[in-house]
Amino acid sequence: MAEVLKETLKTIDGYKNMKPHYEELLGILEEVLILREQYRRKVQENIFNVDESLIEKKLAGGLPLVDFSGGEFDLEGPKEYFVALLEIAHKRALEETGEIIKKMEDGGLDYMEMVRDSFTFQQDEGAEDNNEDGGIFDLLGFLVEESLRPALEILSEKYRNMIISGPRWSEGYCPICGREPKISEIREEGGKRFLFCGQCGFEWQFGRVKCPFCGNEDQQTLAYFTIEDEEKYRVDVCNVCNKYIKTVDLRETERKPNLDVEDIATLHLDILADEEGYE
Ligand SMILES: [Zn+2]
Ligand SMILES: [Zn+2]
Repeated sequence: MAEVLKETLKTIDGYKNMKPHYEELLGILEEVLILREQYRRKVQENIFNVDESLIEKKLAGGLPLVDFSGGEFDLEGPKEYFVALLEIAHKRALEETGEIIKKMEDGGLDYMEMVRDSFTFQQDEGAEDNNEDGGIFDLLGFLVEESLRPALEILSEKYRNMIISGPRWSEGYCPICGREPKISEIREEGGKRFLFCGQCGFEWQFGRVKCPFCGNEDQQTLAYFTIEDEEKYRVDVCNVCNKYIKTVDLRETERKPNLDVEDIATLHLDILADEEGYE
């Protein structure tokens, strides 16, 4: 097992003890991460037909490398992974997954369509799960996203240097897949902020006082809140577009955060942001 994965699983164990409330979701994530590693090895090269001769132009024009709204892709591999992911959730007796599996078998649910929808309607309302996490966690959305992660992660690793060394990508959405960032991180390097794409694992530097969603830089309408005893996490909010993003600052601690894990372990902050009226 890869060293990094081992470290991550240790972190998850620690969080399970510290935050028993998240035990179920963290348990799912643990299995997902192990399975992800396996699927990464099976990924077919370039199922997203990235045309390398267009990359520079695309990036310069603010376009991500993969366009999900228009492209037709052969998603057999990700679909196979999706079914395996559903089984993980189902085994853990999450009721809704039984229904989804059935619908997939009857042909009532089309995987490609789910993928396209997930890119067209970010944060699909009404698809939220009503579990102990206060209904904030969208299980199906998470599984659809995850099913594409191994294939997109490979792209994100392949083109990372090219993107980082080129003119700076200054958009608030991911240069690889176009998804909005899931969470952000303050890093050692001069306290710079990096946005993290949960869809492909790409991270890119972004202004610290700037809303990734609408580009607002006015300090009067940007704010953040923290909660007691968890000062290393904060929620950055924008009062122009009403969106928020969680930010992790683990510079004080030794470890390099795994942002997939941090995202789940801070769902209570999503609940608070939601209660405050932010999306
Ligand atoms: Zn991405
Ligand atoms: Zn905004």
